[in-house]
Amino acid sequence: LTVLGIESSCDDTAAAVVRAGSGPAGAEILASVVAGQTELHAAFGGVVPEIAARAHAEKIDLCIEEALMRAGLTLADLDAVAVTSGPGLIGGVMAGVMCARGLAAGAGLPLIGVNHLAGHALTPRLTDGLDFPYLMLLVSGGHCQFLIVEGPESFTRLGGTIDDAPGEAFDKTAKLLALPQPGGPAVETEARAGDPGRFAFPRPLMDRPGCDMSFSGLKTALLRARDGVMENGTLRRADRADLCAGFQAAVADVLAGKSARALAAMRARGLAPSAFAVAGGVAANAAIRARLTALCAGEGLDFVAPPLRLCTDNAAMIAWAGIERLRAGTAPGADLVPRPRWPLDQAAAPMLGAGK
Ligand code: ATP
Ligand code: FE
Repeated sequence: LTVLGIESSCDDTAAAVVRAGSGPAGAEILASVVAGQTELHAAFGGVVPEIAARAHAEKIDLCIEEALMRAGLTLADLDAVAVTSGPGLIGGVMAGVMCARGLAAGAGLPLIGVNHLAGHALTPRLTDGLDFPYLMLLVSGGHCQFLIVEGPESFTRLGGTIDDAPGEAFDKTAKLLALPQPGGPAVETEARAGDPGRFAFPRPLMDRPGCDMSFSGLKTALLRARDGVMENGTLRRADRADLCAGFQAAVADVLAGKSARALAAMRARGLAPSAFAVAGGVAANAAIRARLTALCAGEGLDFVAPPLRLCTDNAAMIAWAGIERLRAGTAPGADLVPRPRWPLDQAAAPMLGAGK
């Protein structure tokens, strides 16, 4: 099975070709092209939906051509086209879906609408061949949730952030401390020289049962702590390092503590996880990884973190999710609809077209 994947739901335009053998999991990424838009949005301090949509529409054809070229294939070699049909910025999602629709119709290929979050959640099967069921922590700039993954279309959300995502909190922290964006890597680098115990940051919602998390309060605590040590509007390097270390330790504590609860909740449902997997940009953080690795070691469980380029937004995960759907035999049927919101535990979008 060879599938072209297309992703355009946020600020990365991506196309990839993935080929799977007949085994239960695992596949070969023949090509994966990601064109970012960071410089287009830099002046605005955030992703501007109209600019993103236009950039996707402009770049998507080139990304697809490039992916096919690198894979050494043409449309005739494909078995299907898979495209992110939500959730995300609707203009970008529509640009991807329109393009995919045209390609699939022109080449007589089935078109598979993929939930972006399902793409992230199924990635450990592509990279590590994980068996169902497993527990997934999706932790990025826009998302933070625990998912039990039982099948290509079977996801149960155990809880997640009730306000900001951790990546967003890292980015806001960087902004408050005059560090560059994206904030995660900058804060992590500063934190290496810092004392995580100097400032008492809260561990929000840790005293409450369940797997929900909250990160917006950390930002307020950080602001207060920063203002407490700033002199004449300047922040000493050492103070900044301690603030970063304290903030990062609080995020790591919350993620590890709630991960332990999510594992217990999964087991309480009578499900034995094959592993604990992470995805999303924040999974790049070494301090957070170390905490989660230690947690899993204590639980006798494998900790799986896909390589970073497959943890962040990409189209290989969309192609792979398409392969999983093809194998599961989800019937082709009605039109697929771009959706700005699309919780993972709701039904998947149907396929379009009969295929070859
Ligand atoms: P989404 O995929 O949820 O739509 P996104 O595109 O912002 O959102 P990703 O590309 O997966 O998400 O991740 C980007 C986020 O990860 C940013 O918020 C960034 O600060 C954060 N991040 C990246 N590296 C690190 C790190 N080393 N430590 C902490 N956070 C990090
Ligand atoms: Fe994403």
